[in-house]
Amino acid sequence: MKKKNTKASKSRLCLAIKPMYDKEFSKSLWTYDLIKEFNKALREFGKRFPNVKFIIMKPSLWKSPGNTNLSTFPYSVIYKLQKKPVSSLLKDSIAIMRNDLSLPVSLKTKSLNKINRKLKGKKKGYVAFYIIGYMEDFITKSFLENLNESSKKYSKADFVVGFTGKICRVGDLAHNYADCGFATLNGRCGVVGAYHEPHVAILHELCHMFGAKHSENKRSIMFPKQTGNKYSFDKKTRRAITLTLKNIREKRKNAAK
Ligand SMILES: [Zn+2]
Repeated sequence: MKKKNTKASKSRLCLAIKPMYDKEFSKSLWTYDLIKEFNKALREFGKRFPNVKFIIMKPSLWKSPGNTNLSTFPYSVIYKLQKKPVSSLLKDSIAIMRNDLSLPVSLKTKSLNKINRKLKGKKKGYVAFYIIGYMEDFITKSFLENLNESSKKYSKADFVVGFTGKICRVGDLAHNYADCGFATLNGRCGVVGAYHEPHVAILHELCHMFGAKHSENKRSIMFPKQTGNKYSFDKKTRRAITLTLKNIREKRKNAAK
């Protein structure tokens, strides 16, 4: 009964990737030919995993969350918070997110109280820092959720990468990340901000989607800070990707039964 297994595992696995981009991406100072950058990134992936064949689907327009003011986050929010009393920083930052950035941040009273309790008695700088981190997580979450929803109609896509011109943090203040992107670990969606070395960012986010976590190895593609061209797949990254590829093959095999 298991006769066909060896043959199947040696055949090339075909994966479809759907690129989506918001209109701010095309207008961004950092915009680029995303198909060209995609091919560059996938070539590097292919060198390490030659049994995978990627198909890049036609890019589609994406109505991403928030407005163009997002590119000034978190500085614009910090600037406004400076003038507010520490007691109302959370409430004020929610209002700024909603009114200035058009992001529907809402917190239930229960969560609001929980955060307020956590921040009670802390210095203003600490409180602001905490809130900025919280809002950043909210932005990440809403972009990924929105991309997932918006791409549901492209059911043939195994992976979706969203390109945005709204998030353009060259050096991220809160987390000190200079890689401008984020993805769901072992998930279908990832987002790349407009950036000057996009193929590295695309490859990095794709590896997250294949289950790879950050690496401490500076030469690894999974090192979280951008350090120029780096395509090395460290051992843990290779292991994570191999496992995901195996799972996809299994899933397809079972679906074909
Ligand atoms: Zn990362």
